[in-house]
Amino acid sequence: MTKRVTILGATGSIGENTLDIIRRAEAGTYQVVALTANQNAEALAAHAKDFNAEFVALADPTHAKQLEALLQGTKIEIGIGPNALIEAAKRQADFTMAAIIGAAGLEPTLAAVAQGNHVGLANKECLVCAGEPFMAAVRESGAVLLPVDSEHNAIFQVLESDQPKGVKRLILTASGGPFREKTLEDLQTVTRENALNHPVWSMGAKISIDSATLMNKGLELIEASYLFNRPSAEIDVIVHPQSIIHSMVEYIDGSVLAQLGSPDMRTPIAYALGWPARIAAPVERLDFTQISQLTFFAPDLVKFPALRLAREALEAGGCAPCVLNAANEQAVAAFLAGRIQFLDIARIVEATLEREGRSRQFSCAPHDVAAIIATDASARRTADDHIVTL
Ligand code: NAD
Ligand code: MG
Repeated sequence: MTKRVTILGATGSIGENTLDIIRRAEAGTYQVVALTANQNAEALAAHAKDFNAEFVALADPTHAKQLEALLQGTKIEIGIGPNALIEAAKRQADFTMAAIIGAAGLEPTLAAVAQGNHVGLANKECLVCAGEPFMAAVRESGAVLLPVDSEHNAIFQVLESDQPKGVKRLILTASGGPFREKTLEDLQTVTRENALNHPVWSMGAKISIDSATLMNKGLELIEASYLFNRPSAEIDVIVHPQSIIHSMVEYIDGSVLAQLGSPDMRTPIAYALGWPARIAAPVERLDFTQISQLTFFAPDLVKFPALRLAREALEAGGCAPCVLNAANEQAVAAFLAGRIQFLDIARIVEATLEREGRSRQFSCAPHDVAAIIATDASARRTADDHIVTL
């Protein structure tokens, strides 16, 4: 039977890797329903034509004319603006890949969840900013949430094949990013290009910076807490530079189960897309005779305060994770635009958490999506104020 597939964020790194798996499948395996993008009309139109999509949605209206011109003469329907992304997510699909970057993916992903079908979740920020209502929406619709983030996919695979009872802790592995061996002093002068140059993974710009600050692992800690319903104390982070072990689960009897593989996102993407069946992914196979060592280190929270801040936000609860995420998105954008230094990113996040926490005690209703969107907007304004006054 043909699987109807929608990709939210089709022009990004995860979106294009998903299309790569679909392209290699036997004809008739998948029908592409809807594809979305923010600004890149050219790539969106090219993918829509290649995969004969039914509908495309572009969030940024400034490129609407270009998209219309590129799709002229085709039967592909076009939607423009943020509401068009929600329309894309509402079109009947058996599987939706949620691969928009940032909290901008929250409402479209919730619309996909409401269908009650399979959702591959790459967009971790939407779970970080709205963990409680997001998981409630999943329970309500009966959707199957398939984690695509490699760490969460690894844990999902372990828990699916073993008993979910008797778990003592989850162990998230982190590559440590490009600056693992740098000193705090070195970090004062690292550039945008240094930060974008990840040693193991090839990813979009925002998550690459998050990997360099270790905020990515902090967001993943919060993501894991909501996805697997575990408190902060039962989730550890360990640096594993080879990125061969994608994460582990420790049981009460002392057993530790792990999922291993090459660091290539097409493995977790294929797992989610094919679930419950395994489908082929064109990734490099592990050759154990060539892996000379697997090493592990405790993360350095002085050099990488973002991970500490994320754990504190998770433990503070309420809307603290939403504030953390919003401030981080603003700070990373400012760093990518050359407006602030690398170490300022965590400073801005910390200052925003302090200011928003003082004024609200993080007491906003974390089950209310409208309140979360308002908190997100307020935290962005506070972060922007800090960026300007740096
Ligand atoms: P990317 O920057 O390469 O692509 C992001 C996609 O989202 C693009 O299609 C872009 O057009 C769209 N987009 C951006 N801003 C938008 C907005 N405001 N409104 C609507 N659409 C918007 O990002 P990516 O690296 O593919 O990451 C996507 C998600 O997957 C992120 O949440 C990231 O944390 C997560 N993730 C990525 C990887 C990876 O290897 N790239 C691994 C694990 C998790
Ligand atoms: Mg990850």
